[in-house]
Amino acid sequence: MTPERKKEMTGEVREMLKSIPKVDEFLGRLEERGFAIGKQVKLAVREVLDHCREEILAGHLADPEGLAFANLADRFEERYRRRMSPNFRGVINATGVVIHTNLGRSVLPDEAMAMIARVGGGYSNLEFDLDTGRRGSRYSLVEGLLRELTGAEAGLVVNNNAAAVLLCLDTLAKGREVVVSRGQLVEIGGSFRIPDVMARSGARLVEVGATNRTHLRDYEGAISEETALLLKVHTSNYRMIGFTSEVPLAELVELAGRHGLPVMEDLGSGCLLDLSRFGLIKEPTVGEVIESGVDVVTFSGDKLLGGPQAGIILGRREIIERIKGNPMTRALRIDKFTLAGLEAVLRLYYDEETALARIPTLAMLSISKDKIAARARRLARRLNKGFAGQCPVSVVDTGSRVGGGAMPEQDLPSKAVALRPEGISLNELEARLRKSAVPVIGRIENELFLLDMRTVADREIVPLAETILKVFEAV
Ligand SMILES: *Cc1c(COP(=O)(O)O)cnc(C)c1O
Repeated sequence: MTPERKKEMTGEVREMLKSIPKVDEFLGRLEERGFAIGKQVKLAVREVLDHCREEILAGHLADPEGLAFANLADRFEERYRRRMSPNFRGVINATGVVIHTNLGRSVLPDEAMAMIARVGGGYSNLEFDLDTGRRGSRYSLVEGLLRELTGAEAGLVVNNNAAAVLLCLDTLAKGREVVVSRGQLVEIGGSFRIPDVMARSGARLVEVGATNRTHLRDYEGAISEETALLLKVHTSNYRMIGFTSEVPLAELVELAGRHGLPVMEDLGSGCLLDLSRFGLIKEPTVGEVIESGVDVVTFSGDKLLGGPQAGIILGRREIIERIKGNPMTRALRIDKFTLAGLEAVLRLYYDEETALARIPTLAMLSISKDKIAARARRLARRLNKGFAGQCPVSVVDTGSRVGGGAMPEQDLPSKAVALRPEGISLNELEARLRKSAVPVIGRIENELFLLDMRTVADREIVPLAETILKVFEAV
């Protein structure tokens, strides 16, 4: 405290500060009440007492009653509970954004969770070849599956797609030039920008075309002795409309072939199935991209694939072998939990209907509007039973999003439970739900709080209803 501050302090403030209990005294009283005094208890007590001091100095705590043991004990219990609950928690995603990057992207199927538990809780053959008894490669655990599912010659999996892109550029184009269309130099979010990644890899970016239009002759004109690679980047979360044109991958492959250069595509989301029959925009599947003759393709494990965070690199054997041999690969390698989850997810793709039913990301994208409506009615019924008029509930039409950068402008028709709270504001309701023991994330739209039921699992309906009713108990 500065001397000026001390001088300013009134007698009451000084008295209040003096009556804050000492840490040991407070701990003693907690012990009398049967509390085991551990480090977390001590830290929580210190926090409460420090907080009291700050409040007194700020003039927010002037009533001596505020320092009574009962009051301090309540504050302590709240802090202690917060300390003892994990920082990293599950939440209910009622935003309708299926691949929500801030909420952990893809939800893993039960098969993946079981596999992670099985291999993660004991030793495993992560890098041990059970046939020969010699050292094995972790990449071989999923490479065969990826080849069979996509038609690629070879593949490997690294930490995430950003790492995959970095590694490919470093391996194929370090110190040389990479030709990219200006229209594809986008920022994906979380500060992933192709020009920056390129700079880190030591490759030199050669931009061609105009922002809205790039032609084959633009690529052709940019090819020189220094060129190492032609790169196509999926624009993901961004789409240009109007007077635009992009060079189709097949034409790029043909051009590159004439010059003896490889072509790489950063697919971003990368899907193994065609989801257009569920009303999603038609995007080429990974298999179709491989089929068109691209030399290497990268995509995320936790976007449309619906698996754990990973970066999947597929392509020609010779290129994949070079990437495996790059020392940087070791720094970006995938861990055993991810590999376990990824293998389980990939195994589900051998049967399309199984994949759509068992992989939550795909199930949420392919669910019918009727099923979402039924879910919404179930939640609405539970809420109406519990409410005593504090909050009119209705079921309304809304639009969900794919998220994860895929198909940005597309709204998927969905149903939401809409709350119109009385007695608290929409912002207050949003904050209380977010801070609940089971945090609920929804959105405010047109003076309503919306819970989009596309992204709420059936087993979450009961806890969701309980959480909402609890929030209103205090109103
Ligand atoms: C999402 C995305 C990335 C980054 O992938 P992560 O798996 O998040 O590292 C890179 N490129 C494109 C085109 C993307 O959509």
